[in-house]
Amino acid sequence: MSEQSTQTVQPAAFFGHGNPMNALEVNRYTAAWREFGRSVPRPRAILVVSAHWYIGATAVTAMPRPRTIHDFYGFPQQLFDVRYPAPGLTELAEEISDTVHPTWVGADVDSWGIDHGTWSVLTHAFPDADIPVVQLSINAFKPLDYHLDLGARLAPLRERGVLVVASGNVVHNLGGVDPRLTDEGFDWARRFDDAARETVQDAPTEAARLDGHRDFDLAVPTPDHFIPLLYLAGLAAAAGDRPDVLVDGYAYGSLSMTAYTLGLRCRGAQPSGGAASLPAGVPADSANI
Ligand code: ZN
Repeated sequence: MSEQSTQTVQPAAFFGHGNPMNALEVNRYTAAWREFGRSVPRPRAILVVSAHWYIGATAVTAMPRPRTIHDFYGFPQQLFDVRYPAPGLTELAEEISDTVHPTWVGADVDSWGIDHGTWSVLTHAFPDADIPVVQLSINAFKPLDYHLDLGARLAPLRERGVLVVASGNVVHNLGGVDPRLTDEGFDWARRFDDAARETVQDAPTEAARLDGHRDFDLAVPTPDHFIPLLYLAGLAAAAGDRPDVLVDGYAYGSLSMTAYTLGLRCRGAQPSGGAASLPAGVPADSANI
């Protein structure tokens, strides 16, 4: 990474994080995440919209030392031992609140931290954990349009040294997981992922209309992992810029691993193995991945 420059507009990204075991493994997705981190001009802070902070309010973490949260079940102890000790940046809460005004954003000083939607990717992209990390919650009470709009409102932060990262999965149906299909997607998963790509790249302001797609209910049975994509679409719309695919593929039939970058051309990773294996003892829809 080069040193931070105030002249540089930070890129933005959406990552399909998939199975938290990706934090420990090396595959073509994690290789792409690493390549992304190496290509980014050093940011002042990283603001992450993670699928795993899905609550009844819009808030940002505002503690100086956010804890590492292990919000999943049935995985090896090694995964529970992972720490991502990046500092917070307490003053960013007020800056974000001012930036997105009149949308209201609360400051969380003691409830959340850095969840696995964030650290499973950042352990690869920014392994030194020396850049401040702040999370933005997903307000579960708000319609899809709200998230698209809030994404666009975050755009000025890119000019102030903040790398905005969204982490979810465009297609995420844990009840439909087939662990034998490590590197494949069902037809409906592929159709929805393709439609989402077309929209995000060519008509990002329409991204909140993807709920009208014939495969939406199967691809997005709960909206938590899909909504982060709307933040990238909002940022793309605000910038008038077309996101690029960083890496794509499928896992277990019912997850897509597609990742996008905005404002950064990043050399794609070489294929070297598919998605991480799921734990044997817990059904996927109980594992909170
Ligand atoms: Zn997840």
